Amino acid sequence: MGKVLIIGAGGVGSVVAHKVAQNPEVFDEIVLASRTKSKCDAIAAAIGGNRITTDQVDADQVEELVALFARHKPDIVINVALPYQDLTIMDACLIAGVNYLDTANYEPRDEAHFEYSWQWAYQERFKQAGLTAILGCGFDPGVSGIYTAYAAKHHFDEIHYLDIVDCNAGDHGKAFATNFNPEINIREVTQKGKYYKDGQWVVTEPHEIHKPLTYPNIGPRESYVIYHEELESLTKNFPTIKQARFWMTFGQEYLTHLRVIQNIGMARIDEVEYNGVKIVPIQFLKAVLPDPGDLGKNYHGETSIGCRIRGIKEGKELTYYVYNNCSHEAAFKETGAQGVSYTTGVPAMIGAMMFLSGKWKKPGVFNVEEFDPDPFMAELNKQGLPWHEEFNKDLEL
Ligand code: NDP
Repeated sequence: MGKVLIIGAGGVGSVVAHKVAQNPEVFDEIVLASRTKSKCDAIAAAIGGNRITTDQVDADQVEELVALFARHKPDIVINVALPYQDLTIMDACLIAGVNYLDTANYEPRDEAHFEYSWQWAYQERFKQAGLTAILGCGFDPGVSGIYTAYAAKHHFDEIHYLDIVDCNAGDHGKAFATNFNPEINIREVTQKGKYYKDGQWVVTEPHEIHKPLTYPNIGPRESYVIYHEELESLTKNFPTIKQARFWMTFGQEYLTHLRVIQNIGMARIDEVEYNGVKIVPIQFLKAVLPDPGDLGKNYHGETSIGCRIRGIKEGKELTYYVYNNCSHEAAFKETGAQGVSYTTGVPAMIGAMMFLSGKWKKPGVFNVEEFDPDPFMAELNKQGLPWHEEFNKDLEL
């Protein structure tokens, strides 16, 4: 059906490569390119069968990307490098006539600031070029938006309250490690909390609002309101929503380490001079922390991510909980990566599959909830992320 180019050979890139290789009837040809080509080669060798061509690119450089696209002529690029590269890759897509998909919204390097405005600004240009850009197609953002769209399509006349609940009950055996890129992860979880209420954004201190929530097959876990990017698009695309929040579980050990990292200045994103060299503390920290891609071997337990929704159907109040539980061990056995990379990489592959099969194809820039959720939900069940529904239970929220 089409040729895919994956950019980024980290934990998520590795899962995407495994999953596209498992679906040869959709992905005729696969190219994996990243800053460090040896990492692409190692992933291609692990998958075997000469299925994957590898290449090198600095995705901060539009000219290098355009040359890469000219060499391989992909139909769609799956961007699983870092959020810093979103705009350069979108620019190159417009020049070379390539469709685009990512899993995280653009962030400037010098400011931990999450908003879609930079990427939504490409809407007219993608439309004029007849190209599709699919934004935020991991798990959250990604499946969280598709769950919401599915709930709106099949179960509710109006959604009023949306709570996205993200629990990682896994144990990797390390005192402190992040589950995806440490720089991006620490920037995300140390920012102020923010949620949507009655048409406004309410800002809180970091981790100020928290309570135990009960996760299927896991039990109660302390969960914290943090800001997450899909809240911006979901409240725009589902205007009946009165309140939207994002909850994430953190262990006490994790929070203590995080507090120390912040207090001693290691989470700083500005440059400091050290022995005559300029370094950014959080980038140095990434170099000494465990590589998230290597956590899989000893990772036990499950993730559980879902949407808890309250609204009305035919005049009656209804509650709905839709979720997936993913085992770190099973993810590792299948792809050599832990559950957080797996839950991100599988939806990215499905999004590209939706595009290539013509089900999610329209010119412009779209968040995932703007497409038909049904074929995507069907693929989740087939591709390793089955979902479950509960109706009219106590949502605890
Ligand atoms: P990693 O840090 O493990 O991997 C990032 C990869 O991108 C590395 O291979 C890195 O290369 C490569 N890269 C970085 N900069 C460049 C560049 N300038 N040019 C080319 N390649 C580059 O991150 P993850 O795999 O954990 O995460 C990937 C993405 O997935 C991130 O954007 C993250 O925010 C997103 N994500 C989304 C989630 C969701 O549910 N929506 C959840 C988790 C992650 P090198 O190896 O040389 O450093």
